[in-house]
Amino acid sequence: MPSRFTPGPAFAESLDRSDELRSFRSRFAIPDPDLIYLDGNSLGRPPRGVAERLQSAAGVDWAQSLIRGWNAGWYRAPARLGETIALLVGAAPGQVIVGDSTSVNLFKLTLAALGVRPDRSDIISDVLNFPSDLYILQGCARLLGDRHRLRLAPTADGITILDGDLFPMIGSQTALVCLSHVAFKSGFLYDVASVTRQAHAAGALVLWDLSHSVGVAPIELDRWGIDLAVGCTYKFLNGGPGSPAFLYVRRDLQAQLVSPIWGWFGQRTPFAFELDYAPASGVERFLAGTPPILSFLALEAALELALEAGIDRSRQKSVGLTSYLIDLADSILEPLGFVLASPRDPGRRGSHVSLRHPEGYRISRALAEELGVLGDFREPDNLRLGLAPLYTTYAEVWEAVDRIRRCVQDGRYLRYSAERLPVT
Ligand SMILES: *Cc1c(COP(=O)(O)O)cnc(C)c1O
Repeated sequence: MPSRFTPGPAFAESLDRSDELRSFRSRFAIPDPDLIYLDGNSLGRPPRGVAERLQSAAGVDWAQSLIRGWNAGWYRAPARLGETIALLVGAAPGQVIVGDSTSVNLFKLTLAALGVRPDRSDIISDVLNFPSDLYILQGCARLLGDRHRLRLAPTADGITILDGDLFPMIGSQTALVCLSHVAFKSGFLYDVASVTRQAHAAGALVLWDLSHSVGVAPIELDRWGIDLAVGCTYKFLNGGPGSPAFLYVRRDLQAQLVSPIWGWFGQRTPFAFELDYAPASGVERFLAGTPPILSFLALEAALELALEAGIDRSRQKSVGLTSYLIDLADSILEPLGFVLASPRDPGRRGSHVSLRHPEGYRISRALAEELGVLGDFREPDNLRLGLAPLYTTYAEVWEAVDRIRRCVQDGRYLRYSAERLPVT
């Protein structure tokens, strides 16, 4: 490893040379290498193998197998892909399935969890959580007749949630603690095991959303004693737009928990066409209807890359990239008015970095429109830069920071309106 940080392209190139994952970039379809893509935490790039897989899925599997495809592998796809994801999240077989969206999976598991804590009133989350997750929790409370209180742990600095703010909220009235492993805006990463111990000591269940951590942070669901988890596959797992999400139910809870959506794919014997619902015995009871098989096959090809890279190397690269970006931001961007809005401690940080600037929105527009840097913007003033270990290079991080510097120093953002586009 090169020993000392210097702000310049030579140091970035030396980091790339010693990057153990550097060969993985060529496994992705990257039609415009000059476009610096720093949004892999919203939508990953397509692995090359995915296009081939989709071609054969439509041209061969579907065209030739027709209805027989269901017995030739499609029917088992939710469980089969679940076992692959299980390898990335530290779960023994029989506890993970793939299907539906993260929001829908969160809905199913939240209602199931509240159903086995009927005498408790509180659902605990935090103010940094992804809004969709909070909406789902609010909707579940409404469906159950407004008997629950959703209580959100505050943040002192807008970046982290302190144990001292969260833990006192967890008590004898807590039914469920539902949090995101990595916060979508600041990148704050929870100590999952310690929060889970606290919740269990109070007799509550935990539901972790792994959307922003799976593929870039070590996850040990079994070892940490997690009850329930959900997560997204189109971010750092590169499954493609709208690829199906996953859910985890700890084995010894499966028999007690009932899905609120009683569909035939979660039935014990769907092809008996019985008139009454009886849930499947395992985690499959949380399936609902026919899975989108073409998306499953694309995801399956993408997961091969994540497994091959391995979580240890991915985490190491991710920490290397975010630390390097923060070093550059400190020396080059801070004098231009940027403020770091992510944890400095890499042990408490996921794989994206937020930088605040009063002109954040206009800067993000100029970067995307004319400077070839695609990150994203999160209200009110966050430039959020996602660093995907499998295809982001250190040279790109250097170049992105240099373009951000030019954008601000040359006033390139001034010609853009601060009025928001519909999707930011
Ligand atoms: C990305 C993300 C989601 C996405 O939910 P969808 O149902 O796929 O739209 C949900 N929760 C968190 C924490 C996320 O980061």
